[in-house]
Order: sequence, then structure tokens, then C-alpha cells
Amino acid sequence: MKLRDVYNFFVENVVLPVGDILLRTQFMAQLKLARKIQYLQQHELLAYEADALRKLLTHASTKVPFYKSLNVSQADTPADWLRNFPVIDKRTIKENVEAMKFETGEKLVVESSSGSSGVQVTVYMSAKESSKTQAWQTLLWEWGGFKLGDKFLQLGMTTKRPLVKKIKDILLRTDYQQAFNISRAEVEKSLADKDFTQYVLGGYASGLYGYSLHARDLGLKMKFKSVISWGDKMFPHYRKQIQEVFGAAVTDTYGSTEGFVIAGQCEHGRYHVLSPHVYLELLDKAGHEVEEGMPGYVVVTRLDGYSMPLIRYYLGDIAIKEKRDVVCACGRKLPLLKQIVGRDTDIVRTRSGKFLIVHFFTGIFEHFNQIRQFQVIQESLDSICVEYIAEENFQPDVLDKIRSTIFDKLEEEIDIRFKEVAEIKPTASGKPQIVKSLL
Ligand SMILES: [Zn+2]
Repeated sequence: MKLRDVYNFFVENVVLPVGDILLRTQFMAQLKLARKIQYLQQHELLAYEADALRKLLTHASTKVPFYKSLNVSQADTPADWLRNFPVIDKRTIKENVEAMKFETGEKLVVESSSGSSGVQVTVYMSAKESSKTQAWQTLLWEWGGFKLGDKFLQLGMTTKRPLVKKIKDILLRTDYQQAFNISRAEVEKSLADKDFTQYVLGGYASGLYGYSLHARDLGLKMKFKSVISWGDKMFPHYRKQIQEVFGAAVTDTYGSTEGFVIAGQCEHGRYHVLSPHVYLELLDKAGHEVEEGMPGYVVVTRLDGYSMPLIRYYLGDIAIKEKRDVVCACGRKLPLLKQIVGRDTDIVRTRSGKFLIVHFFTGIFEHFNQIRQFQVIQESLDSICVEYIAEENFQPDVLDKIRSTIFDKLEEEIDIRFKEVAEIKPTASGKPQIVKSLL
């Protein structure tokens, strides 16, 4: 056993189990369970999911005031019973937060989120439920090559950590660098002249991308053990840039700021849904399940959250499920997502009824290196405004080329206005919004 493997062993078998005892959490037990569950056969997974769903719906309908008052009629299967529940969103939570809690007297942990809708919500969970989320998240990191005890450089979190977390960071060898306001000097300070071959790098997709841009401009090239992203969309041009500069494949994960994890990329790059942890539905505007292979609004039910059950919770994202007969070479039978398309506000609609997803624009702009950053704002069905920050090599005629490329791909005309700006502001949560619809 190499020295660094000894430390991995020590963290998994001493540090974290002792931590669980001291903090009264169940992280290690949950992680070991998740490691096993991920390799269940398909029929076992379906049975596990149905059982968890039935238990959750029974709990909510009998013990949680909000759901009790809905008087939802039961059905033969848990999935049909679930479909009788209304879809809820941030506003529902905001207006019913007290009635949605299951009071046991146990102290609950608060998870807050804002997200792209701009509506702040507070979600509660027990310490045990919180450690379940951490366990599922860690499992996804393990898919990306992380081992407990590995040195970990995390971007995008606050660097002000309370004492317990500071101790945990030292034992888990985690360094934090803020990525909400990334300056070149800061990137240079945290990355230059260091050996990262034993480090895992993690952060928001946009934060990693921002770091990689500065690193590229500084002429830094490094090799991390692996790169893991979360929190916002990993666009293809982000991924390419990050991999080039940081020398490792990116493993992307998909979660919700309301304290649960939804899916992540396995070693083969496919997104698997953590179906023992969340029940995922893809619905159309009318609330019906979309056909296989079609984009639908992501609606999730957290299966292991009893303190404040979230049943049929609308996230605002759009995703596409993989066909059922597609099998992933990694051996896991966890369901597959073909694509996580983006936020529903991040879509441009055209007069003829087309939806233009963010990739439509990033796929065009990635070929024009004279534009450093851009944002598409849809003002009306017939017009968009493209705000852009020019690169040093910028020539005004590039705008005409971009316009005609958009028309070619779109196969219809839309009024495009270009506006040079000095800064493109991220959303309140720090996420860049590439497409903003004012419709
Ligand atoms: Zn896989």
C-alpha cells in the first residue's frame, strides 16, 4: 500500500466513522449502502424505488399537514398514486413551509436556495437526511475518480467556514477558493507553481470555466487527478476548455440546491439518475409524462426525505431520458438521462414555435473567438438582443457573420440587435445566464 492509499484508508475507516459518532450523522453507513445499491439489477432497483415511494407517500399523506390536507386519492401502484399529487414549486414551498414539515422535535438542518427563478426558498432536513445527500454526492465524486482522503481543491464555495467544518477540511484535505468573483491575480496565486497531480478539482461549471480562462491566459497548464463539476450547466465549450487547461476529464453532476442529488456522469460519461434517492418525472406543460426521447420539465420526488417531503417538485430544468433499451458499459442499471437541456427560462422561442436551447447559441459562438462572453436576451417573439464582451482581436464584421450563421441554423429570420457591453452580470446566485427570456 502506498503512503497516499494509507491516508485514504485512514479517512474512510477512522476519521469519518469517528466523525459520524461525534456529529451523530450516518455518512459512512449511507455511502457504503449507496455503493452497493448502485449495482442492483434493474428489477431490484424498480422494486426498491416502488417501495420507497409507497413509504414516502404514506408518510406524507398521514403525518404531514400540507399533504394531509390535500386528501390525495390512492391508486394501485405507487407510481399512479404519485401522479394524483399536484406538482409543487418554489412558491408552494414558500407559502406552506411550516405545514410541509414533519415535526419530531429533532433539530432540522436548513438548506436555502435561490436559483434562476429568483424566489428564495428554505428547505429543512434532519442530520441523517443531510448525510444521505452527502453520501450520494460522494458516490458521484467517486465515479469521477475521487477517493475519500484525496486532496481536494474546491472552487465556488465561501471560504469562511465554521470551526467544525474547518477541522473536517483539514482532515479531508480540502482547500477552498472562492469562484464568485474570479480575478486573474487570484487564479495565479492559487494555481501557479504547484503540483496538482494528486489533487481533485471541483466546483461550479462556470467557476471552473472562469478559472480555466484565466489559467489559459496566464499560460498555466496543469494536470489534476480529476475534475468534478456541479451547480450549473457544463456546456460543451466549458468542458473542452477545462479539460485542456486542467489536464483531466470532467465528471459532471446534476443536483438541486434544495439539498438532494439527481444524476451524475459515470466513468463512461453517461448521466445516471440516482433512482433510489430521487424519483424523476419529465412532464410537458400540461403535466403529462412526455414520450420517450422527448424533452420534458424535470419534476423530482426525494424518496429519502421525510422531515419535509418534497413530492413532485418542479425544478425549472428540462431534460431528456435515454431510451430504455440503452445499456451503459459501466454495468450500472440506474436509469440514464440523454441530456440535461437547461432552464426553462433559458430558451428562446421563435414565431414559428421553435425552442432554441442554450446550446444553439453556444454552438455558434464557440466558433467566434473574437467574442469573449455573450448573453442573449429575448425581448419579444420577433427579436433578440445579443450583449457581448469583445476580445482584443475583435473586428466589427464578425457580427454580420454571427447573424448569418444564426439565420442559417434557424432557417427563419429574427431581428438581432448586437450591443457591446463591459460586463455581463451573473444571476444573484452567481450563475451565468447565457440566455435570458423576457417573454
Ligand atoms: Zn454508466
